[in-house]
Amino acid sequence: MTSTSPSDSMRAVRHHAHGGTDVLQLDEIAVPTPRAGEVLIRVEACALNHLDVLQRRGPALIPGFALPHTAGMDVAGIVEALGPDTSGGAVATGSRVVVNPAVPCGDCAPCRAGFDGRCPSTGVIGATLPGGYAEYVVAPLANVHIVPDDADLVEAATVPTIWMTAHHALHVTGRAAPGETALIHAGASGVSTAAIQLARAAGLRVISTVSSPEKVAYVDKLGADVVIDTSSADVVGTVKDVTAGRGVDLVIDHVGPATFPAGLFSLAPRGRLVFLGNTTGNQVQFDLAYAYHFGLQLLGSDPYDMAEFGPMLDLYWASGFVTPIDREYPLADAAAAHEHLESRRAMGKVVLRP
Ligand SMILES: [Zn+2]
Repeated sequence: MTSTSPSDSMRAVRHHAHGGTDVLQLDEIAVPTPRAGEVLIRVEACALNHLDVLQRRGPALIPGFALPHTAGMDVAGIVEALGPDTSGGAVATGSRVVVNPAVPCGDCAPCRAGFDGRCPSTGVIGATLPGGYAEYVVAPLANVHIVPDDADLVEAATVPTIWMTAHHALHVTGRAAPGETALIHAGASGVSTAAIQLARAAGLRVISTVSSPEKVAYVDKLGADVVIDTSSADVVGTVKDVTAGRGVDLVIDHVGPATFPAGLFSLAPRGRLVFLGNTTGNQVQFDLAYAYHFGLQLLGSDPYDMAEFGPMLDLYWASGFVTPIDREYPLADAAAAHEHLESRRAMGKVVLRP
């Protein structure tokens, strides 16, 4: 190691079995040791994702998951040490960094071709590898990116998962183009918070949906041109009203069966429906003839490649994007943080502060 060594042990919130929030326990474990090509990071903030809850409840969703598990995919912090024989380039001891959680093998055919999002043995920090519900985490140097001096580390921790997911869905899978109109479901959710801002910045008109009146102002402030409260308004009817009967060019749907039909019927001829989540179930039914008659394109959004990460972060810092933070919790209160997330009342990200 090239710097002051931290003490030998650290606090980490882990679960040794699947279940309710009571399985999350504060353990005293050894500080991980970075190997060659890795860095040790002192965690300043770790943003929560619904996957944390799903993998706590079990059964595990991501191949490679093992118990006991330290969750936390979205980490920002300070580089504490570099592994042996590791030249950090711009990254040095004391650097403020944010971590790309996807760790491809680097050696298979897709990885060597630069399509590492398709790597069959990708590890994910916080999902299959130890994550940020801890005082320290280890990450490959290639996954570590400098946070600008004037940017907040807590906000930085909220960026990787939701912004990369939204960016890949909108731009890589969805091929969003200036002048188009997009319908983005569940506008107050993390991924949609990002998708709305990305779409507006790219010159699209944005229609978004929310499930209650309290969320209308929140989504309005993110820049959506039209916000539909689904508790009182019909999505397809409103979309047709505000697009002169034409419908939208693009739909971003990470909700699943609850929103899929409305998305389909909101599309203009040859419109694209990008789907990337199944929070309301895994099966949908639709009319084949309707879809092909109008030339509708149904596009599944796959994982992003490493090469997309740095440019996305640069765009984030340069564009004045925001990720609202709903609440911060100390590490020891991870169970309360999960309960808050599960209540679905959070508007913005929930963050742990080790
Ligand atoms: Zn690979």
